[in-house]
Amino acid sequence: MQNNLEKYAELLVRTGINIQDDQILVVNSPIECADFARLVSIKAYESGAREVVIRWIDEQSTKIRFDMAKDEVFDEFPQWIKTMLEGYAKKGAAFLSIAASDPELMKDVDPKKMSRQQKVMSQGLEYYRTRMMTNQNVWCVASIPTVAWAKKVFPDAAPKDAENKLWEAIFKAVRVDQADPVAAWEEHQQNLNRRLDFLNSHHFKALRYKNHAGTDVTLALPTKHRWVGGGDKGPHGKVFFANMPTEEVFTMPKADGVDGTVVSSMPLNYNGNLIEDFQFTFSKGKVVDFDARQGKEVLRELLDTDDGAKRLGEIALVPYDSPISNQNILFYNTLFDENASCHFALGKAYPGCIKGGDNLSKEDLIREGANDSLTHVDFMIGTEDLEIYGITESNEEVPVFKGGNFVNF
Ligand code: ZN
Ligand code: ZN
Repeated sequence: MQNNLEKYAELLVRTGINIQDDQILVVNSPIECADFARLVSIKAYESGAREVVIRWIDEQSTKIRFDMAKDEVFDEFPQWIKTMLEGYAKKGAAFLSIAASDPELMKDVDPKKMSRQQKVMSQGLEYYRTRMMTNQNVWCVASIPTVAWAKKVFPDAAPKDAENKLWEAIFKAVRVDQADPVAAWEEHQQNLNRRLDFLNSHHFKALRYKNHAGTDVTLALPTKHRWVGGGDKGPHGKVFFANMPTEEVFTMPKADGVDGTVVSSMPLNYNGNLIEDFQFTFSKGKVVDFDARQGKEVLRELLDTDDGAKRLGEIALVPYDSPISNQNILFYNTLFDENASCHFALGKAYPGCIKGGDNLSKEDLIREGANDSLTHVDFMIGTEDLEIYGITESNEEVPVFKGGNFVNF
């Protein structure tokens, strides 16, 4: 176990963040994950970090605040967070976030309060978020177990066993169970590159999705779209991985080019709430109808964030047969579940999915077909019978996915 922890902390610092000499590392960590955050600090210093700054997160306190603070505070933006994050961002810091929330902690909190809070945070941190989404700073999201999260994933196991099982599942997902994880990630990137080459060389004008669950949708792609996946290049040209694990290759649809029905294939954990068995109907890119067996009000709040929250900003392809989905575990954590399944995201598109997009203004990106929003939320739609066709400029249909997997790989 200790050996794997060391390997994992080292992998995050060296391959995920790819820390550079004299660089500052900011770590967002739940207080339950303190031991691991300290280990990450040590590995970062050993790799040349100038300073490691830890921002502790306590979701229990967040919950108490939602329950008991004066109502108007949820429309106020805490300026110090902006000062702190933007200050370090401008100094070229790298940002590592440990995502490990209790999937159901916030289920009794008023969804309106949460969406108001979410909105002021997104507005207040727009500059910081844009820097991350255009890779002006290096960032990485990874996870380690907490007892509350592990108990949700493995409800029948005793708390300690559940935690150990979740560790094991995470080590597998991030390839820490392999002898040389750094080499395993290099090989993984090469596999992703083959898929990227196939998609980028065909340069489809649209994709068509179909499965028995009821998904039947056509997504037009912007003329200048590009598929990306795996590592990104940071400001100094060094490769980093914004998500660990990551199995997806992705691009953006045209904000007004989505038509048809999309049915979810996994529950979505949104702000500590579960949204289950949901579906959307799109017309000219916009959600015109939606339903959910559970969490419909939370979903409505998400869609009402702004106009862009009702449109898609990401199309991601993940084979049904992949290291995470083969474990057959529902993680209740988007970082893992999205990498087990083909997914879309409501909200803001990644500028890098347009050629040269990282250097375009917001207006230019919108002109190229990109969606803009204060939010970006992934939801899963992949099934074992999913079929995807690419439609070429000359209206030819090229199979991309059959039986839930890439046709050519
Ligand atoms: Zn994604
Ligand atoms: Zn996403």
